[in-house]
Amino acid sequence: MRVGVGYDVHRLVRGRKLILGGVEIPSEEGLEGHSDADVLVHSLCDALLGALALGDIGRHFPDTDPRYAGISSLSLLAQVARKLSEQNYVVWNTDSVIVAQRPRLAPYVEAMRTAIASTLQIAPSRVGIKATTSEGLGFCGRGEGIAAYSVCTVAPR
Ligand code: MG
Repeated sequence: MRVGVGYDVHRLVRGRKLILGGVEIPSEEGLEGHSDADVLVHSLCDALLGALALGDIGRHFPDTDPRYAGISSLSLLAQVARKLSEQNYVVWNTDSVIVAQRPRLAPYVEAMRTAIASTLQIAPSRVGIKATTSEGLGFCGRGEGIAAYSVCTVAPR
């Protein structure tokens, strides 16, 4: 068994969709980025790559590459899962925390788990997602951005 950890932050701006865990969430602001800026899925990609010491998402999917402009991060996650599979590893479980002052994310967590689990081709019971605020503190608390942390375990096939 191997463990990986990932962390990511994106800035909240007007005029962008808010996509978290592959789910579009009604919001006046969305995350800024080259892809759909799905901070949760990016942290998960980094955790999965990290579990096999394969570097980070920026190395595999450079934000200077026009192929990734506006791309759904779930498709990056699918490519990461394929890299693990090529190394004869399967995803055992994942667990993530989203830190966002607003909007309220609890109503969307189940849909995020379903989207991520189906992308990774594992049961939703192996995908943990929690959402928290930072009690108004720091850049997340001020609503300037959203952060996400993920850990995962992977096992040889
Ligand atoms: Mg990112």
